[in-house]
Amino acid sequence: MPRTSKGPWCCPSCGYQVGRSSAMRKHLYDTKQQCPRVLRDIELTEEIKQYILRNRVWHPPPKQRRQPAQQNIYQTFNQINNFVNTIDSFEKLQLIMQHNNKDIETVDFAQNVRREFQDQVLLIKGNAARARDEESGDMPCFRSWRECIQQIDRACNGEDSRDMCVMIDGQRLNIVQEGQVSGFVLDVGMQIILEIVQDVYLNQYEIFLIRGIESTPNHLEKQIIREKLDVYFKFLSALERTPYVNKARYDTEIAPNERNPDSTADEKLQEYRTRFDKIQVADRERRDIRKQLAEVVKSSAKRNEDEINKAVLELLRIDDKFMDTFCTKYNVKAPGRM
Ligand SMILES: [Zn+2]
Repeated sequence: MPRTSKGPWCCPSCGYQVGRSSAMRKHLYDTKQQCPRVLRDIELTEEIKQYILRNRVWHPPPKQRRQPAQQNIYQTFNQINNFVNTIDSFEKLQLIMQHNNKDIETVDFAQNVRREFQDQVLLIKGNAARARDEESGDMPCFRSWRECIQQIDRACNGEDSRDMCVMIDGQRLNIVQEGQVSGFVLDVGMQIILEIVQDVYLNQYEIFLIRGIESTPNHLEKQIIREKLDVYFKFLSALERTPYVNKARYDTEIAPNERNPDSTADEKLQEYRTRFDKIQVADRERRDIRKQLAEVVKSSAKRNEDEINKAVLELLRIDDKFMDTFCTKYNVKAPGRM
């Protein structure tokens, strides 16, 4: 898609998007109270409003960093350590990538999730769930929503700096996509993460279970796999996600090898759509699922931040050239070499 095409007018507070500036003007000026701060916790000042009307999209200015004066000499490594902690994590990630001669644009959350789950996707793509595989452990079947949440944890956790795509800044989740970082309030950020993990892996998992139910003649086995599907559906429902079965195709995705696909094949999927709609999650459990997910995402993001800090400090410690580049960039003096 050409980047020059002009997008809609976007409200940086509630996320409202509209194709006409007059409608955005109405949104910004015609109400007494500001719209909900879902996307960002910011006040829509006159200056911001005018900026949106002129430029369609407003981005928050980069975080203000204190600029230490040149005479600020870091005598000890501990001092530079403290200074590193004050630098924005994405900036540190950029420094590491630069040092490794890698393009920052290759840092992308969805790509990272794809790499992480590629073996798993290959494994389930050609297979249908079998109740007996559960005991041998060959096939993945989530026994509870906690195991579904573990998949999100796996998706968010980076192994090397290229994979550090989810970071946290206070209560704001920073997600790196195509080498650019965007900040979201936690709830919105979690939905973005869920959407990507569904797209890359969980949708395939759902199809894998349905194929299992459809292909076994054994009633007990059908029942066992249906229970697994309910576990997964409960997870989706509690997080207000849509199941893949709502848009899946029976003939190509569930039973591609069926010789005589009958014309009502897609109606078979209706059974699963209804099953999802009937899933009930008690308020308490719903809260529990959301809370656990938030905790998992936050702690993964925190861990990634810690790893980035560690990597920068290690480079500063062992690599004189990196130290020089760093000190020039931040206008500080290097401590005595360790
Ligand atoms: Zn708004």
